[in-house]
Amino acid sequence: MSTIEDPWPRLVPPEIVRGKVLILDLNGLLVRYCNQEEADASRVFGHQHVHLSTHSWYVPRVGLSAFLEAVRRDFTLIFWTSCVKRNADALLRDLEERSLIPARFLRSEPEIEVWTQAECTRYATTREGFRGGALYLKSFARLYDYNLVTRDVLLVDDSVKKNSTNSPFNAIHPRSYTPWTKEHAPHRDQFLCGTLLPWLQAWRQSTIPTPAYIRAYYRELGAQDPIEGLRSYWGDLVTPEPLSGLLFDDAILADRAIARSLFIGDVPAADVSVVVAGVDDPPVV
Ligand SMILES: [Mg+2]
Repeated sequence: MSTIEDPWPRLVPPEIVRGKVLILDLNGLLVRYCNQEEADASRVFGHQHVHLSTHSWYVPRVGLSAFLEAVRRDFTLIFWTSCVKRNADALLRDLEERSLIPARFLRSEPEIEVWTQAECTRYATTREGFRGGALYLKSFARLYDYNLVTRDVLLVDDSVKKNSTNSPFNAIHPRSYTPWTKEHAPHRDQFLCGTLLPWLQAWRQSTIPTPAYIRAYYRELGAQDPIEGLRSYWGDLVTPEPLSGLLFDDAILADRAIARSLFIGDVPAADVSVVVAGVDDPPVV
């Protein structure tokens, strides 16, 4: 395989980035917003639940502070939530005041970006479950604005749909954090520090291109299959333009071809075989 050229050439010199870029969702991964009924049910399991505003509660996830302390050291860290900035600020301020995240976390150096709905790409949809008929997608086009264009980007988000414009293998999608279920009772839920953190540290040390790495190892996390998730959401809508144009629009470099061949099937397999070979036989970087 030595004749294979690196199919993921960097667009910018590596010195511009501060290492691998880790983008973390908030709700459903690090905390869970809930209504009063869910908050009460979470308390029964022994969770600390917080009353944030009139009709809004949240439950922080076990190990949150230790997890953030570790990833802050190892990655260029970005929080990206599709909620509005006012709500994200209120949540983060509350977490800090209660010492549920490390002290001065958001003001430490290098500063941690917080992206909200304003940084998302709005997609109008009439599908169920989206108030206001809009879906807010986390498009990696945003990375260009911050000189963070690199193949080493990973979004961790419980929603597969939010990654619809990027390569499906630039993200992992753990199952949503539901503190009112037995599965996520405090004494059982070791996901952040026991499962996700070691996985991220292994990814950080790997020289395998990120999309190939994710594709090979996302199952170890018990994460959702991104192609199945995207198919079940977009399914019948994907073939006619412009939707097939929208999907994976900002997929980094060669990933777009892989994504389209897997999901839409309009790129001949021969054109992406070199990329697929990278999973087992990574190009020298
Ligand atoms: Mg979420």
